[in-house]
Amino acid sequence: MKRPVVDLAECTRCEGCIALCPAVFRLNQAGFVEAADLPEYPREEVEEAIKNCPGRCIRWEEE
Ligand code: SF4
Repeated sequence: MKRPVVDLAECTRCEGCIALCPAVFRLNQAGFVEAADLPEYPREEVEEAIKNCPGRCIRWEEE
């Protein structure tokens, strides 16, 4: 299964991905963006977040 991951080194914490895809992306307690652990992901919404991420820091990772 593929899951989205965020490269924190490039993330500016603009929160655009959270606005576009709140079911998946969120801020963790440390204030960093992370993808929730879900049994499956809304592919189109994640693709939108990937396309619109200014830091190009979201990608799919094969589990
Ligand atoms: S859209 Fe990209 S840069 Fe902005 S918070 Fe999400 S992962 Fe970080």
